[in-house]
Amino acid sequence: MRNFTTFAVVALVCIGSTQSFAQTEKRPFGARHTRQEIIFPKVNGLTVYKTDLHTHTIYSDGEVTPAFRVHEAWRDGLDAVAITDHIEYRRIERDMYKFMQPYIKDELRGKKYAINTNVMTVAPDENGLLVDFNVPYETARKKGDELGILVIRGVEITRKNLGDYNALFTKDNNSIYDPGAVQAIRNARAQGAFIIHNHPQFDRNNENKLTDFCNSLYAEGLIDGVEVGNSCYFYRWIIDHVLNGKYTPCADTDVHSTTDIDYKSGRRDNTVRYRNMTLVFAKSCDEESLHKALLDGRTVAYHDNMLVGSEKLLTDLFKASVKFEVAGKSGKKLSVAVTNNSSMPYIIKAERTVHHIEPLGTTMISVNEESGKINVSVENMWCGSNCHPTMEIRLK
Ligand SMILES: [Zn+2]
Repeated sequence: MRNFTTFAVVALVCIGSTQSFAQTEKRPFGARHTRQEIIFPKVNGLTVYKTDLHTHTIYSDGEVTPAFRVHEAWRDGLDAVAITDHIEYRRIERDMYKFMQPYIKDELRGKKYAINTNVMTVAPDENGLLVDFNVPYETARKKGDELGILVIRGVEITRKNLGDYNALFTKDNNSIYDPGAVQAIRNARAQGAFIIHNHPQFDRNNENKLTDFCNSLYAEGLIDGVEVGNSCYFYRWIIDHVLNGKYTPCADTDVHSTTDIDYKSGRRDNTVRYRNMTLVFAKSCDEESLHKALLDGRTVAYHDNMLVGSEKLLTDLFKASVKFEVAGKSGKKLSVAVTNNSSMPYIIKAERTVHHIEPLGTTMISVNEESGKINVSVENMWCGSNCHPTMEIRLK
């Protein structure tokens, strides 16, 4: 009898669930249509815009469409994204090898990467240009207009052994290529482009120093910004060079696949982390304002919960984000509530102790009443290759 009862209950449950699955339901879309918001307070009257100034699509060696790249940036909480496909690497053309045969130089014929070599095989003005390099921007822009996120036109100028350079706010990507790397960069500059020295340690044989070629570009005034962070790399050694030379610090993803794969799937803990971002302090989120802010060096580079920038900007950002308030007292000790009103986690050293100040959270720290102040060093902010911003917080 007991067995029969069990059978009957199981059978009823099965019938019930079969019936519910038989119906067609409109399900809510869920997380994939939800944008993650990354909150910063205004700093000195300026808004902190979250940007990624270095991304790729299928129009060079990326794996996704420009529209996807923009949708992804929107979902990741960004305000602006630059599409910076290589003007030399065109993987889809390599895959169309047969079709491309007439365009291949004789000496490269038959070689594995004949199409995808580091130098364009036929100059654009000799009908060698099969890709309109403005198309990735233009299709991305449509998605940006739909979602309300700014898309910046750009290209990456890439030469083996010479390094990679992003040109942003270009006017016509088809007139930048030149067999000579320097001339290509000059062509971009002639369009008023903002030039970034990408991943400065790209050549692994030249660790922790700039090559002669790079130095010549700096000497000619062709570099405006430098990536202190690129994908999973953090170039701490370059920070002094960037800040002392008054170049604009940037950190970008250089994402080729998806940020979900590159930045999220690899996580082994629950720590809050965002994709690399160049935080731009500007009046409004339009090309003119962001371009001016970049030229003025009003950025903080975000990489893996570390922030790089001038001591002043870092201090202003921290003070706008984190408030110290006396909350209570115990004997001669004050309990100070340290409240973080931003999405950025901070690690501070105060009163000889390291404290983790979680995003949108409050941490209590204990201070001697008679001192009336706290000396704070923000350990995950870098205003030099070996220094953190320090500040004195007066307690009221
Ligand atoms: Zn790149």
